[in-house]
Order: sequence, then C-alpha cells, then structure tokens
Amino acid sequence: MSELRQNLATKDWVIIASERAKRPNYYAETDKKTLTEDRAEHDPKCPFCLGNEELDLEIERLPAGEAQWQTRVVRNKYPALQAEGWPERSSVGTQHYITGVGHHEVVVEHPQHNKTLALMSPNEVYQALATYQRRGRKIAEDPRMEQIIIFKNHGDRAGASLTHSHSQIIGLPVVPGNIRHRIEEAQRYFDDMGECVFCTMVNDELMRKERLVFTNEHFVVFVLYAALSPFHMWIVPRKHRSSFLDVPPAELASLGEALQYTLKRIYFGLNDPDYNLIIRSTPVKETGQTYLHWYISIVLRLSRMAGFELGSGVYINPAISEESAAFLRDLKI
Ligand SMILES: [Zn+2]
Ligand SMILES: [Zn+2]
Repeated sequence: MSELRQNLATKDWVIIASERAKRPNYYAETDKKTLTEDRAEHDPKCPFCLGNEELDLEIERLPAGEAQWQTRVVRNKYPALQAEGWPERSSVGTQHYITGVGHHEVVVEHPQHNKTLALMSPNEVYQALATYQRRGRKIAEDPRMEQIIIFKNHGDRAGASLTHSHSQIIGLPVVPGNIRHRIEEAQRYFDDMGECVFCTMVNDELMRKERLVFTNEHFVVFVLYAALSPFHMWIVPRKHRSSFLDVPPAELASLGEALQYTLKRIYFGLNDPDYNLIIRSTPVKETGQTYLHWYISIVLRLSRMAGFELGSGVYINPAISEESAAFLRDLKI
C-alpha cells in the first residue's frame, strides 16, 4: 500500500507510491548520455573556458590576476535583476511590483570544461564553496538585499544553459513567500516543541540510520523520509546555525568532503543525472535564530512535474527513500 509522508520541517506531503516502485538503479541515465568527463577538456566556444573570458563581466578570479585561474566570478550576461537603483514598491489595484533591483552572479568552479563538482577533489569543492560564501557575504552587505539564493543547475533538465561547471548567486530585494512559509513552519515547531525542527530531524536520521548516505564530523547527508522525488537529499550541518554565510573554514572543508562524496555517488551510481542543488539559508537580516537552520537540498531531475503536483503541491514519488539511501551507501566506487 502506498503511503502519504510529510516532511516535518516544510510540511510538504508526498505519496510514496510503493505499488509503482522501481529498483534504485532504474533511475540511472542510459548509456547514450554524454557524461561530463567525456566532453573535451576545453571548448573554444565556451565563455567559461580558459582563454575565452569575457573580461568586462568579471568580478573576481582566484588567484587574482593569474591567467591560469582556479575559480572565477562573473556578472550574469543576461541578469534577472539589475544592480543599480533602489527597490521601489508599487501597488496599483491588482498590480503589485518592486523594481528589479538585485544581484545576479555566476561562479565558474573550475577552469576545465569537463569537470563537475563530483569529479573535483574535495579541496576544489571547498574552494567553490568558499567562493559562494565570499560573494554571498559581499552581496549581503548591500542594504537593499533581503535574501540570497545560491544554487546550481546541472544539465538541461535542471535548466543549465551552459555545460561548463558553474553555480549562480542571486540577491533579492524581498524575502520570497516560499521561504517565509518555511520560516513560519520552523518557528511554529519551535514554539510547540522548544527545539529546532532541523536539529530534531538530523538526530532522528542519525539514530535510524536507514536513510543516511554519508556523515562526517560536521555534516549529515540523508535521503528525506518524505523525499519529493527519487534520491531527494539534504546535507545538514550538525551545528545549529541559521546561515551558510556564517560557516567557519573548518566546517566548510568538511562540507566540501560531504558534498563531493554525495555528488560522486550520484554521478557514478546513476550515470551523471541532471540535478539542482540549492543552499537554503535564512534571510540576510534575520540571522541567529534558534529555529532556523541552513542546509543544502539536492533534487535530481529524473521526472517532470505533472498536473497533479502543480494542482496540489503534493508529489508522487515512485522511489522508496530507504532503498535509495542504501543504494548510494552500498555503491562500490
Ligand atoms: Zn567551458
Ligand atoms: Zn537546528
């Protein structure tokens, strides 16, 4: 019999459709797919490859001034938001808007075209994370900004228009409703139970073990009990902290290890599937709360959203979370 499961923190419901359940390796991409590692190391047409840099868009490179850089940050060529101006709000009848003020930056994580976080060393992943953090902190200094979203689209189904490994950072002049909803749920849980819902979830996963994928000194990686899609995972810090921007270097190095391990398992176990990675942090002016806990969500793009999901906000997941986690843990790679 199928089961409706609820995520304790987000209150999202999912139908775990065990009648339709497939074995975890069913979700592996077919052999026809071009893996990231099978692409050329350098693409003469790629703007993120060494030697093709669009210098007018460049914000920083590390090491600074070196032709042979390790990471680069550029302004998005087609930004969703503009850096100039003050966010003006207007409400006329049913038309409510704010001028599109914000930041939209791209972090190029590696000079080579055929690399992705899964294929980098833990230290290279750490350097990418440190770059997200450095730029995120810089954007957070802008008094117009309320929320910073750091995310990665890997592959076309995840919305990536360029294949070269990169992530994006968007600074918004508002706290979006989706984030506000999660904050309110976390606050309500804290009011009722006197503890952080994310700390509670981490402790429960550590005790049960069946959905764990990886743990180290500072992080716990697990497939969600109420995974909205196959292999939907969270990487959660053991230490209660509300913003990724405040993570100290030792913890960031531990995150580099956890993230690289997890993405490598997905890459080799499922044949380099498309995915989105989102760092979920508190609004920039609301840090330090007892009820908010930052984390990373990884969503594989194995299926498309259908009318039922759009109409109800309830997902149907044909994969059993405990089996997905065991599959990733037991891979011989
Ligand atoms: Zn490239
Ligand atoms: Zn917590």
